[in-house]
Amino acid sequence: MDKISNQKKKEVSKLKRYDDCSFCGGKVLPQRVKVDYWWKGDLTIIENVPAGVCQQCGEEYYDGPIAEEMEHLVKSKEVIRTISIPVKEYKEAVFS
Ligand SMILES: [Zn+2]
Repeated sequence: MDKISNQKKKEVSKLKRYDDCSFCGGKVLPQRVKVDYWWKGDLTIIENVPAGVCQQCGEEYYDGPIAEEMEHLVKSKEVIRTISIPVKEYKEAVFS
């Protein structure tokens, strides 16, 4: 095998492989996602998080180290920008 294809092989194997979705059995592929992270009643949005996303139902899976890094980011004071979010209440009666 020549050098180039060897290198390519390494890059491919470095990509995290995810098991099929545990909810619907769909294919889970690596993607960058935006995470709405609630912590102690406060919402932080984390962009560009590497995750596995089910192509069928949209369920997102995070590796242990990535979940840890998100927790670290949420607790850190560093912010790239702040947005305001409208809050609304669902007031209609619930039908049983
Ligand atoms: Zn799924």
